[in-house]
Amino acid sequence: MWPLRPKRRAESALALLLLAGAPAPAAPGAIGVAVGARSIQPGELTVFTMTTTEPVDSMRLRAFDREIPAFQDARLTWRALVGVDLGVAPKTYPVAIDAKAGRQSIHMTYPLRVEPRLFPTRTLTVDEAFVSPPAALRDRILQEAAELSALWTRSGPGRLWTGPFVLPVPGRAVSRFGTRSVFNGKPRSPHAGADFLSPAGTPIEAPNAGRVVLARNLYFSGNTVVIDHGLGLFSTLAHLSEFQVREDEQVVQGQIVGRVGATGRVTGPHLHWAVRASGARIDPLSLLALLGSIAPEPQGFAPSAARSNRPE
Ligand SMILES: [Zn+2]
Repeated sequence: MWPLRPKRRAESALALLLLAGAPAPAAPGAIGVAVGARSIQPGELTVFTMTTTEPVDSMRLRAFDREIPAFQDARLTWRALVGVDLGVAPKTYPVAIDAKAGRQSIHMTYPLRVEPRLFPTRTLTVDEAFVSPPAALRDRILQEAAELSALWTRSGPGRLWTGPFVLPVPGRAVSRFGTRSVFNGKPRSPHAGADFLSPAGTPIEAPNAGRVVLARNLYFSGNTVVIDHGLGLFSTLAHLSEFQVREDEQVVQGQIVGRVGATGRVTGPHLHWAVRASGARIDPLSLLALLGSIAPEPQGFAPSAARSNRPE
């Protein structure tokens, strides 16, 4: 719990998990803000809790050049999921908060200080066609990338998730989020998800409720299911052997969406789970730590905790 008034600065060491308790009382016409996070670093989810002295009709945030919807949680409390993208440089970013109550507008800016983070590097060997795809496949790859970027901007306007987020498969993540990947000696984009080494055929559960907005084969992620949890929050589940949902289908938390497989750019069967929050690539484990039912991992999130060149 980390109460603060708008003028106070963020110190990530003090930013602990908070989803209980109220932020400092705001002056009339002002907004009190509290930020919950495992740490405020690239690839981490932060949960903003805004408290007002009078009810407001609407609230929205803007951070990292993205619109971030807020949702009302209690009469005087609103929340918003502000993801710090994997590629964000460490510095202080303004988070604009705007509320409307009748004809009155309230505006404030919260300084979000993003601390540095070093990510490990892994070296992998895969089929060369996944590292330097043949020219004939380039159109397909570009088109799939464009479709996915467009998806992140078309989330449902209401919150579809209910209750805590859960792991889609049992076990611990083996491949850490943010790892810089070197495939066949060539550096490629960082790993924007968490990998779970589940045996092929393991049922994959929806981490929470939402709408299936994509269920088909993509070049890199193989058989892929994308669930829109609403308000800009998406789960991607990749490398499936088979689908058990269709596009446009509503799913509930825990519903089986498919099975673990080895389709796409992989070294073996596993589940890749990735999360977007208003477009930002964030660690699914930070989502679980803040909005899930498991405790956060105790280590590995301090700025100095980098491990490098650890091959898998
Ligand atoms: Zn992965």
